Order: sequence, then C-alpha cells, then structure tokens
Amino acid sequence: MSRKFCVGGNWKMNGDKKGIQEIVNFLKAGPLDPNVEVIVGCPAPYLEYSKGLLPASISVSAQNCYKVPKGAFTGEISPAMLKDLGVNWVILGHSERRNVFGEDDQLVAEKTAHALEEGLSVIACIGEKLEEREAGKTEEVVYRQTQAIADKIKDWSKVVIAYEPVWAIGTGKTATPQQAQEVHEKLRAWLKAKVSEKVANETRIIYGGSVTAANCKELAKSGDIDGFLVGGASLKPEFVQIVNARQ
Ligand code: PEP
Repeated sequence: MSRKFCVGGNWKMNGDKKGIQEIVNFLKAGPLDPNVEVIVGCPAPYLEYSKGLLPASISVSAQNCYKVPKGAFTGEISPAMLKDLGVNWVILGHSERRNVFGEDDQLVAEKTAHALEEGLSVIACIGEKLEEREAGKTEEVVYRQTQAIADKIKDWSKVVIAYEPVWAIGTGKTATPQQAQEVHEKLRAWLKAKVSEKVANETRIIYGGSVTAANCKELAKSGDIDGFLVGGASLKPEFVQIVNARQ
C-alpha cells in the first residue's frame, strides 16, 4: 500500500497579509511535486484570505479548534466554523498547544474525535520532551498520546499522525533519519497491534522538528516517514524543496 507523501506547513502565530502573499507567490512558482499532498496551517484570522490566494491543489488548515460545535467558549473556534469557511484540515495537539496552553492527551483526543465527526481531516501531533527521551520514555509517551486518540476514534482515514519530538521543534536540532524512522516504525507496529493492520498500513506518519531543505531528502528516504510537518522553514521559499524531498 503506498501512502501519499504529505507535507504540512505550520505558520504558527506568524505572518500578515503581505507576508502571506509572499508565501503564496513562492508556492505558486513552485513547481511542487504533484504527487505530494500539501497543506498549510494558517493563523485563524487569515484562513479565508489564504484560501482565496492559494491554488486549489494546496489545502488550508487551522492550527487548532475546540471540541464542540458552538457555545459559550470565548476565543475558541469550532470545526463547524472551519467547514463553513471551506477549511478541511486542522492541526491538533501541537506541542505548543500541549506545553504552552496546557492541553492534555484527553482534550487533544476529544478535539480530534469531534473534528473528525464534523468531517475535518486532522494532523494529530505527538512527541516526547527531551527529558522523556533521555529517561528512555519516548515509546511510552508516544504510545500513551496515540492511545488517547485511538480510544476516541474509529475511522482513521482522515488522520495524519505527526511525530514531533519536542526537543527538535524550533531548536535547529533535527532527529536523525534513524531516530525518526525508529519511532515511526514502532508507531506503525503499535497501530497494527492496537488498532488494525489496515490502519497501520494506510495511516501517514509524518515527521516534524527543524526540517529544512538541507535535511529533508535524507529523512524522506526512510520507509516509514510519509512526509513532514514544517514550522520555521514553511515561511521560506525552501519549503518548496521540502515538498519536493522525494524527487
Ligand atoms: C512545528 O511547528 O510543527 C515544527 C516542526 O516547527 P520547526 O520546523 O520550526 O521545528
């Protein structure tokens, strides 16, 4: 079973209209490998603006959403609102949501389940902190985070798992291709044992953490790395090279 290579850009809380136009310009100039699914995670106020500028071949994603359709949740956005804007993707459980805003496994799982119920596709982020890796707890942590999601969802066809070791995000410290492949392979085996062989074979597991034009090709060679989630470099023209890492 071949899994379509998938590259997401996570702009985080960066950009303004002028900056987004510049990103759109280099994405349009590409050329982008047509065999790659490309998704860009825009700040919420710019979702519609970005969608209006981007070609239809590039999907727009929110960076977060809440776990219910509507109500008294000041400051939150719902999957229903995203769908209303024509936005079909959301990034959930990013380490900054978990570690800066205190989102726990349970909340991330509830958000994932609700987003899927509303018809969104989800990039579900997991990953260990440096002290957890150093304590030999990487597998325990990523299995726990994935189990919380597995407990709440049945259909994995619209889920992409992003393995993002927290120590590699925005730090310039990329996991080596061996380190990333090892975790991806173990996660796939875990999915096979705990969910199903079909889900293990078909679910894309993408890597995130200081991916750049310089390191993407080596990472992309690993059989279980099905793409990337890219922060800093997604704001720069080198994002095109990252999308094309398998060429
Ligand atoms: C991210 O924000 O998901 C990320 C991986 O960031 P960076 O590429 O900057 O490390």
